[in-house]
Formats: sequence, C-alpha cells, structure tokens
Amino acid sequence: MQTTFSPAQLADPHMAASEKILRTCVHCGFCTATCPTYLLLGDELDSPRGRIYLIKDMLEGGKAATAQVVRHIDRCLSCLSCMTTCPSGVHYMHLIDHARSHVERTFRRPLHDRVLRAILANVLPYPGRFRLAMRFAALGRPLRPLLSRIPGMGNRLAAMLDLAPPSLPDGRTSQPTAPVTGARRGRVAMLEGCAQSVLAPRYNAAAIRLLTRHGIEVVQAGEGCCGALVHHMGRDDQARRLARLAIDAWSVELDRGLDAILVTASGCGTTIKDYGFMFRDEPAYAAKAARVSAAARDVTEYVLSLGLPGRARGETELVVAYHSACSMQHGQQIRTEPKTLLKQAGFTVKDVPEGHICCGSAGTYNLLQPEIAARLRARKVANIERLRPDVIATGNIGCITQIGAGTGIPIVHTVELLDWATGGPVPAPLAGHEAARPLPAREAAA
Ligand code: SF4
Ligand code: SF4
Repeated sequence: MQTTFSPAQLADPHMAASEKILRTCVHCGFCTATCPTYLLLGDELDSPRGRIYLIKDMLEGGKAATAQVVRHIDRCLSCLSCMTTCPSGVHYMHLIDHARSHVERTFRRPLHDRVLRAILANVLPYPGRFRLAMRFAALGRPLRPLLSRIPGMGNRLAAMLDLAPPSLPDGRTSQPTAPVTGARRGRVAMLEGCAQSVLAPRYNAAAIRLLTRHGIEVVQAGEGCCGALVHHMGRDDQARRLARLAIDAWSVELDRGLDAILVTASGCGTTIKDYGFMFRDEPAYAAKAARVSAAARDVTEYVLSLGLPGRARGETELVVAYHSACSMQHGQQIRTEPKTLLKQAGFTVKDVPEGHICCGSAGTYNLLQPEIAARLRARKVANIERLRPDVIATGNIGCITQIGAGTGIPIVHTVELLDWATGGPVPAPLAGHEAARPLPAREAAA
C-alpha cells in the first residue's frame, strides 16, 4: 500500500511504525474471510482491510477520529485472526493499538460511553475495587429490567450484570512462594493478575499445584494488573503505568533467577510478550521490558517443556472440546501445546469447528459491544455442542466467562484438567458431574 506521510509525521516513532505496517498490506483481502465482524456484518469497513484503509486515512491526514471511524474500530475484536491469515505479514495488532490510542486522544465520545469506559478502566484492573463492584452487581441483578432501559447504555449495563457471577470465591489463594514437592527442578514467577484473581483464583491454584508437584518453585511477585485490559481500550498512559509496576516486580525476581514468567490468561500473555515493543522508545524501561517479554510463557508452553509423565490419569476417556482463545492461537501462535498436554494426560481432545473464529469475549468487548458478542457466542456454543463433549477446556478466563454464559456444558481452564489428571482435585465445575466419575464406574452405570 502506498503512503504519503510527511517527514515531520514520520519523526514520531509511533507514526513511523504504523506507516511501515501500512506499506506491507497489498490489499489482497484474504483476511476478510476469517474476520468475525465481516462474517457477521458483511460490511467492508468492518473487515481488516476496510479498517486498515480507515486508519491510514485518519493517521496520514493527521485527522481527529470521526464517529464513523470510531464505530468500525470499536467493532474490531482485536482477535488477530486477520494476522494469522495475512500472507504479507501485516502487523495488524500494533496498527489497531495505535489507532485506538489515537481515538482516545482525539475523539470525544458520547457521555454514556465515556462513563462506562471510565468505570471499566477504573475498576477492572484493581482487584479490591473489582471485588466490590461484583458484590454490587449481585445486589443490582433484580434491577436489570430497569437498568436495561437506560438510553445509550442499558444493553451494556445488562451485559455486565449477566456476566457477573452470583457469588465470588473467598479471598485469594495465592501465596508469595509455593515450595516444591520433592527435588527442585526450576523456579518461575506467575502473573496473579486482576479480574482473574477475584473471579477464579482456582486457575492459578491449579497451576501452582501442578508445577510444584513436578519440582517447580512458583513465586508471585505482587505485580498486579499487566495493563492488557486498558491497553486494548486505547488508554496508553494507564496501561504503561500498570505495565511498569509489573516489569519492576518481575525484574527483581529475574535478578534472583527465574526460568520463566508464567501466565494463565492468554489475553494477558499476548500483551506481556509485547512489552518489548510497547516500551521500545522509553530508555528507562526498554531493556527491562524486553527482558520480561523474552521470559514470558503461557503456562502450557512451560509445562510441556517439563515432560510430564504420559497418561497420568488413565482412568477416564473424558471428551474435551478444546477452545483455543484468539490470544492463544492468533496472538501468541500457540496451537499444539495445550492439546498435546491434555492428550498426554489421558483425555480425548476434540477441535471445535470454526475454531479460528472469536467467541466474542475479547477483553471488555462483550461488555461494550454486547449484541455482536452475543451472536459470536451463540455461533461458538453451537459449534462446541455439536461435538457433544463432556467438558470444554480453554486457557483464558474471558472465554470461560463468555462461553460459560451460553452453555450448560462444564467449562474449565486447561491447567485444572492437567492438575486433576496428575493428582489434584476434581475441577469445581466438574464436581458431582457424571463426566468426572472414573471410567469403570461410568461403564458400570451405562
Ligand atoms: S490479508 Fe494482509 S495484505 Fe491482504 S488485505 Fe488483509 S491485511 Fe492486507
Ligand atoms: S482483529 Fe479480528 S475483528 Fe479485528 S479486523 Fe482482525 S479479524 Fe477482524
């Protein structure tokens, strides 16, 4: 794609990076075939290629974002399916991130939008506030019919109430250091995170049991939110503030000796692996950020490298529908590791048809674009249920919440199944479920 940015514009490193991305696009349109919003809406401007044109026009012309541009940028899930498909290697993620921050700086959103986004940005990344908000949401559920009628934001308030769990698990299960059982083979840090630490601390608890059982000491550095949620809302300053705290905390542990920084939420993992790019122009943090990114691993990448004993569970043929989160398969290009581990642990793993299409979760997308998100969830759930699985497994809490709200099939984190298969407790959603009974008992009952 030809561009006409002026030398003065290209002196800005963000603009120079985006110009380089724009120039790699050859307009072929292959990406449109795998874009969820183009599949649903059929509008070129809701396809990757269409959005690339809109962003080019906005940035090159030095224009403030318009309502039309914002509508199409907001509808993008940042699922990155287009990056996997693109034969030219267009780095759409960095381009849309730049566009979102340009929108944040140049466009004044309607009041209801500003209020909602401010609430999300000031609550979600902070576990104490988020816990309180979830309690209010539980109390506010009876008011749902009333709230859903508020003009401009009712549907989104209703979506927030629908996704809030009726109750929260008690406190955090994390501990600063989890000692190993038996001989020590390694030492890792694990992201504790924000919303996940409130909604489902059992995912990290399962990962810690799994790792320590196999000789890996786990430390939690007290880093807080990684900044991913607000980064995807275009709130660069806040995202960088949160990321700097995480980088500082992990740098201390890296100096003490770490094999890896593990992440159990693939959405967060994608952002942490990109810290090196985010901070490339900030001298005090560039090297530290690149070091953190280089050490970041999804928990399944690391566990596979340990070589767990094969078929440890061996007493069930539980059928698992494996849902690969977009941030896992497109953001981090992790495709085989989770499924390999599940198969090694004795589960029958099935791929979900149309597995490359987003479930509609996408960070705060299901709260801000509830209609499109609901259509994508219905499509995803129909594809999963066609497999008639006993359980759904995935590696991202956003997908678990989104898909779980649309199906009665139990849904768990991949590490919960791996922990269970190697001696840990039955994952909570499977407790008392027929599928969790040992195979001989299920066969006798059949
Ligand atoms: S597939 Fe890649 S090169 Fe082709 S239009 Fe899409 S982004 Fe551009
Ligand atoms: S990130 Fe996803 S929704 Fe956005 S343009 Fe690419 S494929 Fe479409």
